[in-house]
Amino acid sequence: MKVLLACDMEGISGVVCWDHVNPEHAEYQRFRRIMTADVNAAVQGAVAGGATEVLIADGHWNSTNILIEELDPHARLATGSPSPLSMVQGADSGADAALFIGYHARIGTPNAVLDHTWSSTRVANLWLNDRLVGEFGLNAAVCGAFGVPVLMVTGDQSVAAEAREWIPSVHAVEVKQAAGRMAATCLPPQAAQDLIRKGAQKVVSNHLQGTRVEPLRVATPVTMRLEFMYTLMADKAAMLPGCKRLDGRTVEFTAGSMPDAYMAFRAAVTLGA
Ligand code: ZN
Repeated sequence: MKVLLACDMEGISGVVCWDHVNPEHAEYQRFRRIMTADVNAAVQGAVAGGATEVLIADGHWNSTNILIEELDPHARLATGSPSPLSMVQGADSGADAALFIGYHARIGTPNAVLDHTWSSTRVANLWLNDRLVGEFGLNAAVCGAFGVPVLMVTGDQSVAAEAREWIPSVHAVEVKQAAGRMAATCLPPQAAQDLIRKGAQKVVSNHLQGTRVEPLRVATPVTMRLEFMYTLMADKAAMLPGCKRLDGRTVEFTAGSMPDAYMAFRAAVTLGA
């Protein structure tokens, strides 16, 4: 069984503010080590549960956060940016299941550490087929297009609730209880990593024993509506072929498949910079 660990940073143990996840800030060096340890716990759990291959997709910032020199030797690391499938790089490589590590809730969620959707400076709202979506639903739908179910998510209680809205049987490991956007009660990393290890082992062994979680498959063609923070961003994104301008800050585009919609979304956000 091949497991994809799709990793972000805002939902990593102890993270509560941008300084923790910004490579330009000194605090980042502490938290990338903790991120690596959270990810290692998931690797160890997945292997103990029966995974024979573990591929990690480093999905935060420029995808160069995880310290390869500290990585569990069972894993392989997809790192660097841009890669074809970005936060779920490797979803198309024959993975049997995915675990999302260090995730955060979508923009506008109360009591959610660093809630945002893809870009905290550009994206005001995002809809997938008329449903508000954050990074969990978006990336889970890309995995789903390749038949890959998401078995587990780690982060705060709010991303856990958001994940269950998309995949009711997903296993959520809550490493912190958010009390705002920049405040949370956190488990110490060792305690959080124990839960991550046990969770990963359980979901992988359940999968191998036949308790299946359905891949998240969204209806096609896929329509995405993207509301930017500023009109200038929509001015630029509207240059994308097939992109419709709905109002000052909002564009919409339709693609034949979820992976194509994901590409179009990322192109629109990149153009909007
Ligand atoms: Zn991130």
